[in-house]
Parts: sequence; structure tokens; C-alpha cells
Amino acid sequence: MPITPTSKIWMDGTLVDWDDATVHVMTHGLHYGSGVFEGIRAYETKRGSAVFRLQDHLRRLFRSAHVYQMEIPYSQEELTQATEETVLANGLPACYIRPIVYRGYGEMGLNPLPAPVNVSIAVWHWGLYLGEEAVDAGVRRKISAWKRMDHNTLPPGVKATGQYLNSSLAKVEALKGGYDDGILLNQAGYITDGSGANVFIVKDGALATPPFQAGCLDGITKDTVATIARDLGYVVVERNLSRLDLYTAEEAFFTGTAAEVVPIREIDDRATGSGGRGPICKELQEAFFAAVHGEDERYRSWLTFVDD
Ligand code: PMP
Repeated sequence: MPITPTSKIWMDGTLVDWDDATVHVMTHGLHYGSGVFEGIRAYETKRGSAVFRLQDHLRRLFRSAHVYQMEIPYSQEELTQATEETVLANGLPACYIRPIVYRGYGEMGLNPLPAPVNVSIAVWHWGLYLGEEAVDAGVRRKISAWKRMDHNTLPPGVKATGQYLNSSLAKVEALKGGYDDGILLNQAGYITDGSGANVFIVKDGALATPPFQAGCLDGITKDTVATIARDLGYVVVERNLSRLDLYTAEEAFFTGTAAEVVPIREIDDRATGSGGRGPICKELQEAFFAAVHGEDERYRSWLTFVDD
């Protein structure tokens, strides 16, 4: 996805011009994937721009850093302010927000601990991740030949930069095969995530999604959609899902900050349900967009208004 530059990027405490937000080629994270990050969205609301579930994303960022023993030199409160400042400085009512914490310049070798920890926050316009058509018509997915890394190789509940090579393998395999994206199984053969999104299916009118233990990321959009679905009266269960569960689902869809809520119309060349967006997915998409745009009072606490 080509990036459209914005004006300012927050780097280690100061806002710098987009073109000056560079790092040295000997940056540790570039060589060893030693970074952790988040993907967050801000949406336009009647009260101005609002960051969606900012504290949940920052908590996950700190958790990821903890696993890799990276001491973030800012508090969650400071990163909250920095995020708001960066959104405001760029004047975008709606944007994608990318905080990244990475091992910087000054050390080489596989022990990352002596390398400095740097932090930056960039924002830019990132519209519909898989395009307008995907939101209505759905996407075609392929179950990947690549397995998702497991709890004892690289912890799948952590958003670390290097770990995303696993997702990229599945994504490229799917694209080259003529699909929109992949779905990764775990070593036991159960469904985990798409390359950058969680999976839901509808079976007998109820929603099912794989548990964290299967090797998924504990997606914030997944939690959002599950909460909204329960509030609408649906049953939502977390259970291991097999390939067959996906092939025979009445509906299936993906959730993620970048992807938002995207129906799956085909998995491994088999039509999902009627082969398009199902009614439950549509209902959840509408309720999700109402929540993120501040149109549903029940979910106001998920919004951080940047100019408050
Ligand atoms: N699974 C993976 C592997 C992801 O990269 C993402 C994107 N962060 C998700 C699920 C969805 O998580 P969230 O809803 O928090 O963006």
C-alpha cells in the first residue's frame, strides 16, 4: 500500500518533519527485527477526531515490549499525549496510527539488551485496507501452507516487527495464488489468524472465533465486534476451528484495525454460505462503524477525543 506522506512524525519526544524521520542503516531493529508496534485508527466523529481504544492498544504495546525486555522510556500517559499531539499536528480527522518501539543504533549482535530503545509515532491516511469492494462483496482467502508461529517459537500474542515475516509469507503466497489473503493454521491444524486480522465464523446463527491459546493475536477489533455482537443478542464462543468449520460456515469474516470488518466470500475456492456478505456480518459492520464514529452512546468510552 503506497504511503501518502503527512506533515510530522513524533520521534523520541519531538515532532519532526516527515522527511527527516529517518534512522541509521545500522539500526538494530533493521537487522534483527527487534521492535514492537501497534496499529491504531482515529475516526472522524461529530466531536472531532477520536482515537479508537487507544489505551487498549498502548497496553498491548507495553505488553509486547515487556516480553522482549524492552524498557519503553515513556509512560503510557506520555504516549497517549504523544499520539494525540501527532494526530492533531497532522490535521487528519481520520487516520491510521503506527507507534513503534525499536532497538536503535549503537550495538550489533543478537543480544539486543545493550541497544537503545527508540520510539516513534507516525500517522497517515489509510483508507479501506482491502478496498471498497471487499467491505460489501467480501474477499477470497486461502489456507496457507505456512503455519503460524507457536507459543514456544515466537509468541503469537505479541506484535513484534520480526514476527511479521510469518504473516508476510502467508500473504504473498495467497496473493501469488490469486487470493486476497491467507489464513494460517497452527501446528495442530486449527485456525489461527489471517496475516493481519482475526477470523470469525457464523454457525447455526452463533458466532465462533478461535481462542488466544490457538495462537491468535488478542485483537482489539475482535473484542469490539464480540462485545457488539453479544449486545445485539448473539452468542459468541471461542473454540478451536478446523478447516471444515470454515468450509461449512454460514458466514465468515475478518476483523482487524486496518481491515476493520471484512466478509469472506470464498475459502480455498469454496463459497462461504451464499458466497457474499452474510446478514450477520452486515449488521455487525454497521454497528461497528457506528461505534467507531461515536454514533452509539454505549461505546463512547472506547473513544479518545484528541482535542479534549
Ligand atoms: N491478528 C494479527 C496477526 C494481526 O496482525 C492483527 C492486527 N493487529 C490482528 C489479528 C487484529 O488485531 P487488532 O484488531 O487489534 O488490530
